[in-house]
This record gives sequence, C-alpha cells and structure tokens, in this order.
Amino acid sequence: MRTRHHPHPARRACLAVALAAVLAQCSSPASPPAGGPPPASPPPTVPARSPFTAEVVPVTAAELGPSWRPGCPVGPAELRRVRLTHVGMDGATHVGELDVHQDRVRQVVDVFGQLYAIGYPVERMRPAGTYPGAEDELSMRDNNTSAFSCRDIPGSGRWSQHALGRAVDVNPLINPYVDDTGAFQPANAAPYLDRARRDPGVLHDGDPAVRAFTDRGWTWGGHWTTPIDYQHFEMP
Ligand SMILES: [Zn+2]
Repeated sequence: MRTRHHPHPARRACLAVALAAVLAQCSSPASPPAGGPPPASPPPTVPARSPFTAEVVPVTAAELGPSWRPGCPVGPAELRRVRLTHVGMDGATHVGELDVHQDRVRQVVDVFGQLYAIGYPVERMRPAGTYPGAEDELSMRDNNTSAFSCRDIPGSGRWSQHALGRAVDVNPLINPYVDDTGAFQPANAAPYLDRARRDPGVLHDGDPAVRAFTDRGWTWGGHWTTPIDYQHFEMP
C-alpha cells in the first residue's frame, strides 16, 4: 500500500516537556528501571510500579485498518497512536495503545497518568482496528479499552465522538451500554448490569477513576439516563 508507514524513531514524539507534571518519566522502552534502592519505601500495601510513560506516534490508514475509511470525519493525519502504561487486572504494568485525535492527546495522557497513579486496572487497550471489521461488539466483549473508531450513533445519523477520536470506552464488558429499553451491549455483559458490583475496574459515580476524567472536564456516559453508557467518556 502506498500509505504504508515504516516507523522511524525520529518521528516519535515524547511528551515529557509538556506533561512533566503528569509523567514521572518519559522513557524509551529500552530503558530499564533504575537500579538501586528506591528513594523512599512505599507503604507495604502499595506495590511499587514502573514509572508512567506515554509515547505518541503518527498513525496511517494502513495501521488504523478497518477502524477508518475514506469519508470518516477525521483523517489519519489528525489522529495519533498513544502508547500508555497501565495497570492490568493482574496488578502488573502493561503497555496499551489508544488512537485519539491529536487535539486530545494531552488530555488522554493526563487522565491515564492519573488512572495509573491510583492503580485503576484496565484489562487491555488495543486499537479498535485490531478486531475484525473494527466491530465494536467484539472489542467490548473482550473488555478492550479503545478510543477512535469511525462509527455513528445508532439510529441518529450523527457521528459518535469515537469517530472524531474524542471519546474513550473503558473496560466496556464490565461497564456496559444500557439503552432505554433495557437492552445492553456487549451481549456477554448481563452479569455487569448489577452496578453494585465492586469488581476491580467496575465504575461507580464518584469513584476516583471516574473523577480522573470528570474533574478534567470529560463527560461520563454513566451520568446519562437514556442511554446509560458506563464505559464511555468524551471530551468533544
Ligand atoms: Zn463510547
């Protein structure tokens, strides 16, 4: 494909300067953790973690795959792929990828730096185009956290904020979408319609994880009534 992108280190942008307040360290993946004892011993109940990192790279149509097509409201040149450290359901540090609008990179890094700091677990974070046809149902069933995906709001004829790269769905299996008829998505989310559950990653109003977004000006779909979209955060 003529648009095939061959990543080059020089094209990678590190946000350490602009986000120094958020990022404890912005390092290349090749940098090992510093040796020697930590400067201060953490409380015994809080595991020490690797520093939070965020790497921002361009993304091509080929790399977006089925999540983008001609006619979508934003093009690949307006999107970025952000590689973020996050805590997994296993409590370990992982690196995931979110495709977002270039105008939302800083806000997304800020929020996910806070989620990492508070230890909020994200099961997996892969671009929507990883799934066949970028089918949202497949991503949601897989409890996959994602952002950009060129799709409309069903029945509305309007683009979703996901199609602009300005919305993030967080742990969508355990934080489902519920419409005004009680129908829900994804199809395997029935156990998680009980919002009193306290499983790791289940979002509740006022949680530090929800506030990581809403205190920074994002809207949470869990505050909506028709539909209620517990997984959804957007900043149009
Ligand atoms: Zn959403």
